[in-house]
Amino acid sequence: MSVNKKRPARVRNTVDNLYRHLMEAGAATPGKPAVIELADSGDGVATTSYGQLRERVETYADELGDLGLDVGDRVVLESDTSASAIALYLACCLLGLPFVPVSPETPTKRLLSIIDSARPALYLQTVHGVRDGIPPEVGTARFGPDGLTVGRAPQPRIRHRREVVPTDPAYIIFTSGTTGRPKGVVMSHRANTAFFRAVRGLGLLTPDDRVATTSPLQFDFSLLDIGMALGAGATVVAVPRDRLRWPRRFLGFLRDAGATHVHGVPSIWRPVLRTEPDALAELRLRGVLFCGEEFPLGELRRFQELSPSTRIINCYGATESMACSFTDVPAPLPEDLERLSIGFAHPGAEMMLADERGRPVTRPGDVGEIYLRGPSLFSGYWNDPEATRAALVPDPLNPASGQIVFRTGDLAHQGPDGEMYFRSRADSQVQIRGNRVELAEVQRRLMDFPGVAAAVAMVVPGSGSDPVLCAFAVMERGVPEPGRRELRAHCAEALPDYMVPQELHVLEELPVTENGKVDRAVLAARLTTPT
Ligand code: ADP
Repeated sequence: MSVNKKRPARVRNTVDNLYRHLMEAGAATPGKPAVIELADSGDGVATTSYGQLRERVETYADELGDLGLDVGDRVVLESDTSASAIALYLACCLLGLPFVPVSPETPTKRLLSIIDSARPALYLQTVHGVRDGIPPEVGTARFGPDGLTVGRAPQPRIRHRREVVPTDPAYIIFTSGTTGRPKGVVMSHRANTAFFRAVRGLGLLTPDDRVATTSPLQFDFSLLDIGMALGAGATVVAVPRDRLRWPRRFLGFLRDAGATHVHGVPSIWRPVLRTEPDALAELRLRGVLFCGEEFPLGELRRFQELSPSTRIINCYGATESMACSFTDVPAPLPEDLERLSIGFAHPGAEMMLADERGRPVTRPGDVGEIYLRGPSLFSGYWNDPEATRAALVPDPLNPASGQIVFRTGDLAHQGPDGEMYFRSRADSQVQIRGNRVELAEVQRRLMDFPGVAAAVAMVVPGSGSDPVLCAFAVMERGVPEPGRRELRAHCAEALPDYMVPQELHVLEELPVTENGKVDRAVLAARLTTPT
């Protein structure tokens, strides 16, 4: 950008702006690595220091400012996690442009439905991006380390705003939604800064840590990794997504980048545990944080055996609150442990349980739905007031107060000290022949079978009025496949008849979604039970 060019008037962002918050810790150490990624040559790593990251954010912010965008105008960014993508995210925060991340793996149809819903001013992809067919009313540009190249300028607009305020949206994450319908979760600067301030207080990371992020950028887990690392003045290690399929190359990259921590969904570890146990042990990771679904206990035990000094953290939460709790996994896991605890909400937030009618559930062991209160809640679902009203509800304890809390849709029970144990999604609690069945119970029983590494239970509509209970199991490497009859008998030993899966399959591996969670739709398609 030419030095003589008139610098555009920037909007102000004085209080609780996410950019300011995330760049605060690293400001004193401009030479320190902020981001480590794969070098352009495809071999070795490239480092971007905090000083360089700041410069790149400034360049992008100038260029975005030149396009005349107003606070609140959405910017879709299609990219994997990289130093440039992080700089663009921060530049959007600086200017108050809600950031909508999308992965290059996203099918075009889904991208277009996100664009149709978010109505962005601008769509960005990398200089190597291959996406075309972006609707004509949306501006387009490409980005690289040196700045933006505009393909089609955004439509002219009037600037109404002068200051980015903490309640302005920082980003919108379109989740797959457990219902299957994409939902745009709108998160404000205030929710983010309150969250990261609280998490920083937990002291999970030091400025010397290097945090490997493995989730696609469109999954807010990646934004959590970036926020936690930069917020602590530590380093983000952007793991190329294709490395996750090749355990040796994945671990090799972690080693080359000097990663001390790895964040990811549990499924990233399954191939590593199966084929590269020794290399995992040699890495001596300081910390592993998992999120998104339960970590099968057998695999967790194996991890602990191989890497006993690694601190493993169970991070529970949903996009709607970034995350909710961070709980140390006991090391070693007690032999008779049935399920992991999701503990207590992070400081400044609180979980409570309530029944279907919103009455508090307080007795240890009784199941209720988790309600979450605190300043890190989402603002609402994008353009969906009905879904917003169903999830952001009056505080069941004091409805008259005007306080709004998040009804999570997750079922849990409390332990003797009030710590929480996740049971299942409220929508995965099913009725079979008039009996309440928690699919997680069926899964747990299958996992007790010697050699079963992971299991998934689900119901599909049957020909009669009752749904049909089906299950899938994956064996540990080298363990011979058991017969279905054997597995069924094992279930029948401990479960009532209606909880014994009617259809059972043993698979080589579990299919996963773009975000790395078990893909239930793909599993359902493999069933022979007519749906
Ligand atoms: P979705 O799965 O609906 O696309 P999210 O990625 O936000 O949306 O998933 C949030 C849900 O994932 C939570 O409500 C909970 O059911 C589940 N979940 C998240 N973390 C954990 C965890 N550590 N243990 C068990 N379940 C979890």
